[in-house]
Amino acid sequence: MRSTRRLALVASTAIGLGLTPTWSAAAQSSDYVCPLKGSPQIRPPDAVASSGGGFDASRSGGRRHGALDLNDTEGAPVFAVHGGTVALSAGAWGPFGSTIIIDHGDGTYSLYAHLSDRMVHEGDSISAGEQIGSVGYTGNAAALRAKGLPPHLHFALIQATKSGLAGPGGPLRRMRNLDDSWESPGAEFTGPVNPESYLPSSCWTGS
Ligand SMILES: [Zn+2]
Repeated sequence: MRSTRRLALVASTAIGLGLTPTWSAAAQSSDYVCPLKGSPQIRPPDAVASSGGGFDASRSGGRRHGALDLNDTEGAPVFAVHGGTVALSAGAWGPFGSTIIIDHGDGTYSLYAHLSDRMVHEGDSISAGEQIGSVGYTGNAAALRAKGLPPHLHFALIQATKSGLAGPGGPLRRMRNLDDSWESPGAEFTGPVNPESYLPSSCWTGS
């Protein structure tokens, strides 16, 4: 039941984004942990993003925010939500700033952006719950600091048809040149997945 309901949620989210849901296998939601300690607030509407930082929030040009922005304090530890391999660990990664992407090996990827510190290197094997970095104001989040607003973790789960798409030269790296709203980097990508479909609901507050 649980698995069926979750897939239905994922599929309806994909349809909402104008994407075609093509799910092959269900992930094990019990293997996912929270990216931050406690239950941080999903970013409410603010002077930088009038629609806030919820999954699927509106962004300019009719695009959608295919991620969750979780408000926290600068330097708060960020944890891998699921085991995998670090496919990208880079500073100044376009609007995302200091960014990590983990390839979970089953066609799903998690992305952590606007970090202050990164504690892992590309190729590292990572376990769920391992600290990989800390919350910061890098990339376009610098605008938040300028306005005295809290920093956040831009956290995305991305579904593709296979693993291996985020390494050097991989198509997922095209996201660097896109806005932080979702724009598909290639045909291999089904789209962003609502993290609420995989992670415990206790991982954040608000909607
Ligand atoms: Zn964001």
